[in-house]
Amino acid sequence: MSHFDLIVIGGGAAGEKGAVQAAYFGKKVALIEKENQLGGAMVNTGTLPSKTLRETALHLSQFRQRGLHGLDLSLNRKAEVKDLLFRLNEVTRIESARMQHNIERHNVHRVTGTAHFVDAHTVQVGERQYTADFILIATGSAPFRPPEYPFEHLNVYDSDEIVRIHEIPKHMVIVGAGVIGVEYACLFAALGTQVTVVEPKDCMLSFLDSEIVAALTASMNRLGITFLFKSKVTNCIVNESALPVALKLETGECIQTELVLVCAGRQANTANLNLPAAGLSAGKRGQLEVDSHFCTGVKHIAAAGDVIGFPALASTGMDQARVAICHLFDFKYKTNMTPLFPYGIYTIPEISMVGETEETAHTKGIQTVVGRSSFGANSRGAIIGETGFLKLIFNRQSRALIGAHCIGESATEIIHIALVAMQLSGGIDTFIESCFNYPTLSEAYKYAAYDALNQMNTKGTHVESR
Ligand SMILES: Cc1cc2nc3c(=O)[nH]c(=O)nc-3n(C[C@H](O)[C@H](O)[C@H](O)COP(=O)(O)OP(=O)(O)OC[C@H]3O[C@@H](n4cnc5c(N)ncnc54)[C@H](O)[C@@H]3O)c2cc1C
Repeated sequence: MSHFDLIVIGGGAAGEKGAVQAAYFGKKVALIEKENQLGGAMVNTGTLPSKTLRETALHLSQFRQRGLHGLDLSLNRKAEVKDLLFRLNEVTRIESARMQHNIERHNVHRVTGTAHFVDAHTVQVGERQYTADFILIATGSAPFRPPEYPFEHLNVYDSDEIVRIHEIPKHMVIVGAGVIGVEYACLFAALGTQVTVVEPKDCMLSFLDSEIVAALTASMNRLGITFLFKSKVTNCIVNESALPVALKLETGECIQTELVLVCAGRQANTANLNLPAAGLSAGKRGQLEVDSHFCTGVKHIAAAGDVIGFPALASTGMDQARVAICHLFDFKYKTNMTPLFPYGIYTIPEISMVGETEETAHTKGIQTVVGRSSFGANSRGAIIGETGFLKLIFNRQSRALIGAHCIGESATEIIHIALVAMQLSGGIDTFIESCFNYPTLSEAYKYAAYDALNQMNTKGTHVESR
C-alpha cells in the first residue's frame, strides 16, 4: 500500500494540470491513467485530432487559396487517409510525450491501469491499492451512443472512432448539429464529401449570437452541406449495398448513405469507478455534481473536466483542476474559476465568442450598442482573402465591452483580445486609445469600436470608421 497527498484518476486535460499543480507546491502525487498514452480525449480522440485533421484537410484541399486565386472547389479533393493521419499521429505523439515529460519533471508518480474506489481514501488498480488524503476525479467522457445505431458496423461511427477512418467517404450523414457535428461536417465537406446534417432542433449552435449562426450557415451551405433541421432518426440499418446505411426519419423518409457519424453528446466516465464505495453517486449521463471549488459531496474528493459536464472543454477542464487543487490544499493562489471563458469552434470558417450575445444581453435587460467590423474591409483581410467579421457588444451606459463574436480566419486567437479587455473592464475607449499593428485582423477591434461610437453619436457627426 502506497500513501500520497493526492491521487488523480485520469491523465487527460484536467488530470495532468491538477497533478502538476499539487506537485509544483511540493505535494506527493500519484496520477492513474488506464491507457498507456497520456492525453485522454484532448490528445487522442477529440480536441487535437479533430483540429489536426481540419488543418490537414484545409492544406490538402488548398482551401485557403481558393478565395485568393479563384481556384475551383473541386481541386485537390483526392486527399488520402494516410495523408490525413500522418500529421494527426505526429501531433498526438508530440503532445502525449510533452504531458509525460511534464509529470516526470514534477515527480508525479505515474500508475498505468483502471482505477476504482475501495473506500473514500483508497483506490485500487489491478492488485494494488493506493491511499491519499485527497483525490481528484478527472476521468473525462466518452461519446453517448444512442441504442438505435449498430456501432459494431464499420460504416457507423461515433466521434472518437471517426479520427481513425479508413477511407474518405463520398457521402456521409452526421447526426447532431452540436459543436462536434458541425466541425466534422465542415472538415469532410472541405475534403469533397457530400455531407448531410440531421438535427432534431430547428437550428444549430443556438448558444451563439444569431448573426454568427446565420453567417456560418451560409458558409456551410456554400461548402455544399445540407441541413435537415427538425428531423429525428428513429432507426438505422446497415446492408450490403453501395450506400449501405439506411436512416429512417420520424417523418417516414429514408436516407441512404455510405457512412453515418453520430454526434449525440457525451457520457461521463464514472461507470467503472465504484462511486458508492467512496460515498458518491453519479447524476445525468454519469456526471458528478460539484460546488464552486469543484468539491464533490465528499469534501476531500474533487472532480474536474468532462466528468462534471458543462462546459466540457479542455480549456475549462484544465483550469477547473487547478482551482480544485488550490482549494483542497488551501494554496493562496488561483482560488476561483473565472466565469468568463471563450468558446472556440473550428468550423470552416472558424468561430469564437466570449461574454454576452445580443440575445442574452436583451434577455437580461442590458441596453447595448453594437459595433461591427468586416475583415473584407480590413487590410490584412484583403491580403489573405478573408471575408468574416468581428462584432462587439457594449453596455450603452457604461461603454464596457460585454460580449465579442468573431467568424473568420484566426477567430479563436483574435477573441482573446476581447477576453482580456473584459477581464480588465475595458470598453469602447480601450480599443480607440490602443494602437494596433497594421495590417492585422486584430485592428478590426478599433474599427468595431468606432462603429459602436457612431451608433451612440446623437449629434449625427460621424467619427472614423472602416
Ligand atoms: C471531437 C472533439 C473536439 C473537441 N474540441 C475541443 C476544442 O476545440 N477545444 C476544447 O477546449 N475542447 C474540445 N473538446 C473537448 C475536450 O476534448 C474535453 O473537454 C477534454 O479532453 C476533457 O478533459 P478531461 O481531462 O476531463 O478528460 P480526458 O481528456 O478525456 O481525460 C480523461 C482520462 O481519464 C482516463 N480514465 C477514465 N476512466 C479511468 C479510470 N477508471 N482509471 C484510470 N483512468 C481513467 C481516460 O483514459 C482519459 O485518458 C473536444 C472534444 C471532442 C470529442
